[in-house]
Amino acid sequence: MSTRIAIYPGSFDPITNGHLDIIKRSLGIFDKIIVGIAVNSRKQTMFSRDERLEIIREVFAEEPRVEVDAFEGLTVEYARVRNACAVLRGLRAVADFEYELQMANMNRKLNKDLETVFMMTSEKSFFVSSQNVKEVARFGGDIRELVPPAVAQHLALKLEQQ
Ligand code: ADP
Repeated sequence: MSTRIAIYPGSFDPITNGHLDIIKRSLGIFDKIIVGIAVNSRKQTMFSRDERLEIIREVFAEEPRVEVDAFEGLTVEYARVRNACAVLRGLRAVADFEYELQMANMNRKLNKDLETVFMMTSEKSFFVSSQNVKEVARFGGDIRELVPPAVAQHLALKLEQQ
């Protein structure tokens, strides 16, 4: 049987426990997950492409079924090159839904053989986003339950440098 590969595209600026939850649960469905950092030169990020690659690789160092990579351009094109059968996305609130529905339909238009698979956030993570983690950290709040330890360390360092 062929290996079932899913691409999990996103900004991951930085990766949170919400993302981790989606990745871990999806390993029960797919053989391999490629975490694809979508690089968009017009989007301002706190962590550079290389920093995000390094952080996520550190987080999944013990999980050989998770690969971390970065790509530019269309997710459908990247999925084709990587032989993925699905794009994985997480859903938190109703607010995520409209955008995700549009993206999934556009991607289906571009490649009808590529499925988008949505996974619902768990009750522990529905309020966690990269944006609010950065905001809480900036104001000195405790983010240790929201992100993996490597991210908490990198965030603290980054904020010291700013
Ligand atoms: P993007 O800029 O593409 O939205 P993100 O890194 O913010 O990238 O998110 C990547 C994916 O992970 C999206 O599908 C997003 O909805 C999902 N996601 C983010 N945070 C959570 C969470 N706490 N629970 C479930 N899914 C999440």
